[in-house]
Amino acid sequence: MYKEIKHIKIYKVKGILLLFTLLFYNLTAINSQVFTGSNGPIVDFVDEPYHTLYSATVKDLPISIDNNFGLEKICIHLRHKRTRDLKIELMSPNGETVWLTNRNKSTLHYGYFDTCFKQNGFNGEIIEDSPSFKGEFSPEGRLEFINNGQNPNGTWYLLITDLEEKVVGSLIDWSITFSNNPAKIIEGNCSETNVIDCLPKGHQDVSFTPDLIISPSLSRDHIEYFGSDDTTNIYNNQIRLAVAMANIGSGPFEIEGSGIWECGEEEVEQHSVCNDGSAPRQQVIQKIYARQNDTLAKIDNPAGYLYFDNKPGHNHYHVDDWVTFSLLKKCWWSRNPSKWKVIGTSNKISYCLFDNKICTSANEYCQSDGVTYSEENLTNFGFGKYNSCNSALQGISVGGIDYYGKFYEGQFINLPADMKPGTYYIHINVDPLNLYRESNENNNSVLIKVKFEIQDNRLKMIVIDDKA
Ligand SMILES: [Zn+2]
Repeated sequence: MYKEIKHIKIYKVKGILLLFTLLFYNLTAINSQVFTGSNGPIVDFVDEPYHTLYSATVKDLPISIDNNFGLEKICIHLRHKRTRDLKIELMSPNGETVWLTNRNKSTLHYGYFDTCFKQNGFNGEIIEDSPSFKGEFSPEGRLEFINNGQNPNGTWYLLITDLEEKVVGSLIDWSITFSNNPAKIIEGNCSETNVIDCLPKGHQDVSFTPDLIISPSLSRDHIEYFGSDDTTNIYNNQIRLAVAMANIGSGPFEIEGSGIWECGEEEVEQHSVCNDGSAPRQQVIQKIYARQNDTLAKIDNPAGYLYFDNKPGHNHYHVDDWVTFSLLKKCWWSRNPSKWKVIGTSNKISYCLFDNKICTSANEYCQSDGVTYSEENLTNFGFGKYNSCNSALQGISVGGIDYYGKFYEGQFINLPADMKPGTYYIHINVDPLNLYRESNENNNSVLIKVKFEIQDNRLKMIVIDDKA
């Protein structure tokens, strides 16, 4: 009798423990939902790029996605023997897109086999060329921007664009995961709606001026020389290079369209074509953020121009005269690169200004004058948010990076066919015409030292360092 009672007691205690365990598990467990999408062949590039769309129906989720519950990751499995051809984007039901990968290269030539894209991916950045893309990578764009309060229920699309002809592939499967561990938007103290907490903190009037730098490592680690004997044929006599600019200032780099479109001096409609076949240009106004009487003010600085760029892989609005890159031979009589001999130049380079990467202490992408900039030392880190290439508003947030990869259209320096061995410098300069206002106008360029030498009867290029 006594024994039986004891048994019942133990059973009761175990039951309570089980109840607590279940309750605790429910409160802390990752609650995730996975949706799979359609598959099929990827349409190859023929004369112009084609966006192949694959759909996934998402339903029965909360009506708003944000930092508490939202998009966590996208996994793809596709075969393609030349991944540098592919631009892959995700589109939400309301039409917002985020870049997952754009013209990145794997050397094993399988494609994207079991590749997942997640904020702070365990296997690093997808932009770092890797043997295979198997694993979990940080995407080329910023997933968190999708978790902006929009309704996730509806049709999502994976957009795959093949930007080079001849090599074909196919999407085998893909999935999209929503959970209570989503890609999170940076919530700094300082924002458009809370300028009191922007540094310098307080009630004094102050302007938060941006400061652009060129990320030295993003270029130095993503340079490739294609000689005149190159078998790919399409990149002969070119240095292909990635270029990224970061904003290390105290306020966002922002531009707004003036709404006035011009062909030369003549005012025209936005979507017209100029007589010479070019696209009309819109003057842009740089908006410098300031705190005036405890509220946010934006000071106008009429600056450069913006136009619709129809090159494959772009097809969006670009800010003109944005960056230049060239190959120089140093002259012994001058320390100023503008006096050095020009060996090769880029075509005219324009960019869409948007945040697709971020300066962190983990990636060390943002360095200037020996200092690494990140969330740890950037005043007002995360101030501003720019994720579109439209004509009305573009920009780079504080700590944001605008990255253009080496296989994007236009990312190259033309070289003479008779390149000689020797030491040269790649010179990259953002805002070369000095049209935009910054807190420091003297840190807009970098020099990367390279050496051309003959190895196995072929001319090779070796990157030495980033200092002159
Ligand atoms: Zn572009």
